Amino acid sequence: MQTNFSAAQLADPHVAESEKILRKCVHCGFCTATCPTYVTLGNELDSPRGRIYLIKDMLENGRPADKEIVTHVDRCLSCLACMTTCPSGVNYMHLVDHARAHIHETYRRPLPDRLTRALLAFVLPYPGRFRAALKLAGLGRPFIGLFEKLPALKPVAAMLRLAPTSIPSASAKALPGVHPGQGTKRGRVAILTGCAQSVLDPAINDTTISLLTRLGVEIVVPEGEGCCGALVHHMGREEAALASARRNVDAWTRAIEQGGLDAIIITASGCGTTIKDYGFMLRLDPAYAEKAARVSALAKDITEYLATIDLPEPVRKPGTVVAYHSACSMQHGQKITRQPKELLAKAGFVVREPREGHLCCGSAGTYNILQPEISAKLRDRKVKNIEATGAEIVATGNIGCITQIASAAKLPVVHTIKLLDWAYGGPKPEGVSDERLVAAE
Ligand code: SF4
Ligand code: SF4
Repeated sequence: MQTNFSAAQLADPHVAESEKILRKCVHCGFCTATCPTYVTLGNELDSPRGRIYLIKDMLENGRPADKEIVTHVDRCLSCLACMTTCPSGVNYMHLVDHARAHIHETYRRPLPDRLTRALLAFVLPYPGRFRAALKLAGLGRPFIGLFEKLPALKPVAAMLRLAPTSIPSASAKALPGVHPGQGTKRGRVAILTGCAQSVLDPAINDTTISLLTRLGVEIVVPEGEGCCGALVHHMGREEAALASARRNVDAWTRAIEQGGLDAIIITASGCGTTIKDYGFMLRLDPAYAEKAARVSALAKDITEYLATIDLPEPVRKPGTVVAYHSACSMQHGQKITRQPKELLAKAGFVVREPREGHLCCGSAGTYNILQPEISAKLRDRKVKNIEATGAEIVATGNIGCITQIASAAKLPVVHTIKLLDWAYGGPKPEGVSDERLVAAE
């Protein structure tokens, strides 16, 4: 694609980066076929190619964002299916990240939208605040129907619908400290305990610690780590995202210096995509560029890490039929497609893949709150495809997908690590009825 940026514009490294990306696009439109918003809405402006044109026009003309571009960029899920499909290697992720930051800086959203976004940025990345908000959600639940009738309050209704009715106790295990591996030491890793996942399902990290330590891997939970920054990053709040990234880079750098790390283990693929991008996000910060690149190189999804170590024979071969849902951040963001399915099969599960596996379930960070209608359409389509597999359980590696799919599916939805842990001697995953698993044993 031809571009017409001035030399002065290209002096801004963010613009220069976007210009490089834009020039790679050959307008072929292959990406439209796999874009969930184009497939759902049928509007070229809600396709990757359409958004690329809108972003190019805004940046090239040095214009503040307007309602039209905000509408179409807001509808983008950042699922990155377009990047998997694109034959020219267009880095849509970095382009849309730049566009979102530009929108945040130059566009004044209507008051209800500003308040919703400010609330999400204030609450979700902080486990204490998020836990308190979930407790309060019970008070608002009776008013969901009313909120849904008022356009400005639809995101509140979506939040209340997604909020679980019971909140698990905070983990007593995933606290700062070192968990030694059992038997012969096979490695030393840090684990991201993160934010929303540690409140919605603390057992995911507890199970990861339990399985890895049984396998002889020492786990460090470093003091000071927290939200990866993805939630605010996708809202264009660049400074807040970079502050989270710096804080985590500091925490993991201390762990590296205190005893070395073979990997930084991430159990939510949405976080993994962002942490693997820290090197890029902090490339212009001389104090952090090198450290951030080192952290990104060490970041590994739990299934990616497990695939690199020799696993023993499973304790039980469940034979349970599992529908594996590959989160967009797993398959498109991190290109991890093989390992989770191979690990499940090796552990004795029968793995089935739903049709249209490339399409997003509509979760996408805060998307299911900010764009509830499109999100619900994608969720229902996903659930239909999953249920058509005839599986007994759904396995996936991202808490956002677990919450989203479980809100409409009849079958249990669990994190992949819980099924693996069970096969390798851990307890049965909660939420899975005993009869199903006992029958399968
Ligand atoms: S990230 Fe997903 S929703 Fe956004 S343009 Fe690409 S394919 Fe479409
Ligand atoms: S597939 Fe790639 S090159 Fe083709 S229009 Fe989409 S982004 Fe551009």
